[in-house]
Amino acid sequence: MLLERPAPAAAGPLRAVTRAPEAPGPGQLLLRIAACGVCRTDLQLCEGDLAPRKMPIVPGHQIVGRIEAVGDGVSDWRAGDRAGVAWLAGTCGVCDKCRSERENLCASATFTGWDVDGGYATHAMVRADFALRLPDAFDDLAAAPLLCGGVIGYRSLKRSAIAPGGRLGLYGFGASALITLQVARHWGCRVFVATRSTAERERARSLGAEWTGGYGDAPPEPLDAAITFAPSGDVVRAALRAVDRGATVAINAIHLDRLPEMPYEELWWERRLASVANFTRADAREFLALAAQIPVKTSFETHPLADANVALARLSRGEVDGAAVLVT
Ligand SMILES: [Zn+2]
Ligand SMILES: [Zn+2]
Repeated sequence: MLLERPAPAAAGPLRAVTRAPEAPGPGQLLLRIAACGVCRTDLQLCEGDLAPRKMPIVPGHQIVGRIEAVGDGVSDWRAGDRAGVAWLAGTCGVCDKCRSERENLCASATFTGWDVDGGYATHAMVRADFALRLPDAFDDLAAAPLLCGGVIGYRSLKRSAIAPGGRLGLYGFGASALITLQVARHWGCRVFVATRSTAERERARSLGAEWTGGYGDAPPEPLDAAITFAPSGDVVRAALRAVDRGATVAINAIHLDRLPEMPYEELWWERRLASVANFTRADAREFLALAAQIPVKTSFETHPLADANVALARLSRGEVDGAAVLVT
């Protein structure tokens, strides 16, 4: 399913095309895709909110598949192995960021479904050293939503500096927050969820949130940290107002509509705003092991690959129940 020109999701920006898969080059794997999660970033790319880096492009960066062919020089993967592929498609490996466990910040990083063709397809070509082993505890469909929403939610938890038992706010409650809440509860955190949707509030309470409300409602106690998932600067500001002195608001978004102007008092007392960019392979491995141990429950609806436009349109209208997963 190819994006040639961004357009509103309702207009169906993706077009089905047929291409023969190539043979993997050195260090690459050819995957036969079983499932690919649909992320809000895909929607932002397809609608033009996120500037394209390559066009045309096959979107999709929560890929679960099996290896069909292995390129030269790859020794740790075999044909038939199950592999996951996420947003980080490759890094340079030699810059100061790559050499200091911050490969997520590599200026030469490439991203799946943005710089290189992604998972809205039957096959994908990936770098073997960026493919991820997936725990057996998750079948193909359940594993897909872990690969972006889960991994980046986990990095957001780290960036928010929440301590075990602390009071954590989650602002917006889509696929990523659903998983993040379960990790936070596993760490014994008290979780407070703000979202517009009454259905999402109910789901948050069923997963252990002790308070839910709207973006404008103040939680009953000041929060020790918050993570925002909605791509809205106003939501970031609402979260900032809800946190205690010294607390961090981590912004889990690659694209935000804007940052509103605000009085400095709202940031004063060492409150911090932190963006969250991508993840490292170490984050992904840590999170996948933790997810299997908890075990994290993913909830998702499935669509055939050919209905990728339908899935994007449902996501844009806020109708997706948990995550959307394309099945090939
Ligand atoms: Zn994503
Ligand atoms: Zn680098």
